[in-house]
Amino acid sequence: MDILLASGNAHKLSEMSALFPRHRLLTPPDFGVLGFSPIEDAPDFHGNALIKARALHAAVLQLQGTGTAVPPILADDSGICVDALGGGPGILSARYGAEREQAPRNDAERTALLLRDLASVTDPGARSAHYVCAIVLLWSPERFSLCQETWEGQISVAPSTGSGGFGYDPVFFLPDEGLTVSELSAEQKNKLSHRGKAAARIAPMLEL
Ligand code: IMP
Repeated sequence: MDILLASGNAHKLSEMSALFPRHRLLTPPDFGVLGFSPIEDAPDFHGNALIKARALHAAVLQLQGTGTAVPPILADDSGICVDALGGGPGILSARYGAEREQAPRNDAERTALLLRDLASVTDPGARSAHYVCAIVLLWSPERFSLCQETWEGQISVAPSTGSGGFGYDPVFFLPDEGLTVSELSAEQKNKLSHRGKAAARIAPMLEL
């Protein structure tokens, strides 16, 4: 089945495509929706995932006409919550530090900023964190399924050299594995991750 992914993030497309192998994931530009970037002003992950899904549904209808059959839409909103930062950056993970004078410009700079902000927290147990991923599968604005999952870990003191994953993965340390997420294969990450667990619970809804 064709599914429309409400994201322009290439890393998310790659992880989601592997998590929904029985389906073909299309992106907003595939449906003529360019520069898709709705205002995510909900106070929580699941609210923002729903905003993205509904915004893409509306954008497709606006472009293609109201009688158009819109494929099911998948939207993911995710982030990292660090206990020593009071749960931050949370829903602001993609924009962490944007308000600062020397605002980070990419994933590596945001990760470096996170390490600087935690420099005074030296006990590994106090550097606990979790990823959150909310996934919405939306059929129409008022018909959708929603699932949210977490993944527990700790923020390491320096980025690992692993090249997998994206975002904060080089500093997200898994005590049980003795590795950071960027040292896992894509398959290992998808089995364990917040996104993998949420996708596994949503996938059966596509078979109904
Ligand atoms: P979103 O696109 O608004 O959902 O922002 C998600 C942000 O959270 C990303 O830009 C990353 O910084 C972070 N994030 C979410 N999931 C992951 C992950 O699996 N690995 C690393 N960083 C993640």
